[in-house]
Amino acid sequence: MANIDLLPAVRTFPAALTGAFIDGAAFAGGGAPIDIVDPASEDVIASIAEADPGTVDRAVRGADRAFRDGRWSTMRPADRERILMRFVDLVERDGEMLAQLESWNQGKSINIARAVDVGASVEYMRYVAGLATKVTGLTLDLSIPIVPGQRYHAYTRPEPLGVVAAIAPWNFSLMIALWKVMPALAAGCTVVLKPSELTPLTAFRLAELAVEAGVPAGVFNVVHGRGATTGQALVDHDLVRKISFTGSTPTGKTIGRAAIARLARVSLELGGKNPALVLQDADLSRAVPGLVAAAFLNGGQVCAALSRIYVERPRYDDLVAALHDAVGGMTIGAGLDPTAQLNPLVSADHRDKVRGHLAAAEQAGATLLGGATAPERGWYITPTLVTGAGADAAIQREEIFGPVLSVTPVDDIDRAVAQANDTPYGLTASIWTNDLDRALDLIPRVEAGTVYVNTHVPVDPNLPFGGYKQSGIGRDFGPDALDAYLEYKSVCIAY
Ligand code: NAD
Repeated sequence: MANIDLLPAVRTFPAALTGAFIDGAAFAGGGAPIDIVDPASEDVIASIAEADPGTVDRAVRGADRAFRDGRWSTMRPADRERILMRFVDLVERDGEMLAQLESWNQGKSINIARAVDVGASVEYMRYVAGLATKVTGLTLDLSIPIVPGQRYHAYTRPEPLGVVAAIAPWNFSLMIALWKVMPALAAGCTVVLKPSELTPLTAFRLAELAVEAGVPAGVFNVVHGRGATTGQALVDHDLVRKISFTGSTPTGKTIGRAAIARLARVSLELGGKNPALVLQDADLSRAVPGLVAAAFLNGGQVCAALSRIYVERPRYDDLVAALHDAVGGMTIGAGLDPTAQLNPLVSADHRDKVRGHLAAAEQAGATLLGGATAPERGWYITPTLVTGAGADAAIQREEIFGPVLSVTPVDDIDRAVAQANDTPYGLTASIWTNDLDRALDLIPRVEAGTVYVNTHVPVDPNLPFGGYKQSGIGRDFGPDALDAYLEYKSVCIAY
């Protein structure tokens, strides 16, 4: 097992990072320094001065000026689309550099960084760039009776919202930043992006590439910093018209309150506690690899990841044995080692939080099954199956966001559905069966924004994605992806 050699451009990039990218150029942050740490070696990669409130103000004012000067917001849609397609080509050109930065910084597998963070993002970017020329309104017949004989021509006119604050989490830093930046730019908005303070390395490079592609200076800005300081200054700024947030449910509630206080538009993509129902006819040879991938992708640090399995009792023992074999045999190592199947968690704090959940589950009577071994250095948690957890145990109800999967036998599918739904979350769920009648009966009864059958976790640009209940407000992706960045003006003309 050996790490890949980092490109020279990757090694030198972090040292040159500043606290912000404003009006097309690097800008000093002005705030306290933040250490960026490699989760596998625990070495400091770089130290970045965070963007203080004055720097955030400068970024938002720059974005507002860029919006109002109209170069981007009123550009011919075909020209905007062409520039965004060039932006995609540049991300593809620099794909290996971006993948290495993501893997080094978050600790994730270089294979995932190449295939998902960069590969899937490039597909997503092309899909959304193409929407820039597909924005439409409606023409409407009216029946206003006030002036007899008068007729009306009416239509709706989509217009870009203005400055968008895009706030991203650490687990797919580059990809989730693009889920916000791309539809905002395609709609004609300008953006201030704040990546997570834990994983800021790629956001700055994205903004540089956008400028190289022809996005006018000031249209795409970045501020680095912590949530409580830089992030809060951004969401509270009066000139921010829309907040697009992806992160945890508690932070989402704080941001939702800040948005409502000044009636800014807000989209929230939040946490999950995602269940699978494994029915007794399920083909375990197909289900087990799918369940393992769904639970342990990126060490379970995926909002859509599988977290709880409810399996019909006749298959319980076989399923637990097969899952135990799979997790016990996993190879664990640095994300930059392409042979490692599981990698460190993002931070020591997060590793300790997951450890705390496992200790509490064991204390409450659950059994922990594992077997894989991890390197001594680095923020590792070995993949763990949890059996015998009570329905009310925290491990069955709270988002863990680590390599932990619980398995519970069920005798009654109605009770299983009730337990699957019995959390505040509702992001994804899956049903594993070849019995079409049972699948079609269960799909409407599961409270989740996405329900999978015989798969769990993939997302696609053409399939709307978002949460029921406390997993969020709004949808990303799909043909209507730009709607969240547009206001629809109603126009009424008498003649
Ligand atoms: P987090 O909520 O701690 O932080 C997310 C972002 O918000 C970070 O950039 C952080 O600095 C910022 N932030 C924190 N407080 C803020 C404040 N008061 N004002 C403005 N910004 C603030 O989440 P995290 O730990 O980075 O990410 C993991 C969480 O994200 C998990 O709960 C996961 O489920 C969720 N997530 C959801 C989706 C989805 O699409 N639904 C996708 C990925 C991750």
